[in-house]
Amino acid sequence: MNLLGIDFEDWYHPQLVEPFVSEKEKIPIMYKGLDKILNLLRKTNSKATFFLVGELLEFNPEMLDDIISEGHEIGFHTMKHTRLDSLDFQSKFKEELKNLKN
Ligand SMILES: [Zn+2]
Repeated sequence: MNLLGIDFEDWYHPQLVEPFVSEKEKIPIMYKGLDKILNLLRKTNSKATFFLVGELLEFNPEMLDDIISEGHEIGFHTMKHTRLDSLDFQSKFKEELKNLKN
């Protein structure tokens, strides 16, 4: 069995960094490395689940097709890497899904 999860977010998403970055500075760059990751997975005949932050698709929507067309899975990592570890996580997650559909 092959289990691999990739936390596919950008440099400014982690909670320890995000509060110190202005909206203007949040320029996605992570998709530039996607080809290298997909090539490595292809070479090793591995499949992965990419836990993808939804807002990144607004900048580079074809990324979704690139990942899925290689047979990998997508995991929804909320729209903006929002923490969901609170008592109202169910309603927060429903709201996140609603934002994804829009
Ligand atoms: Zn994450």
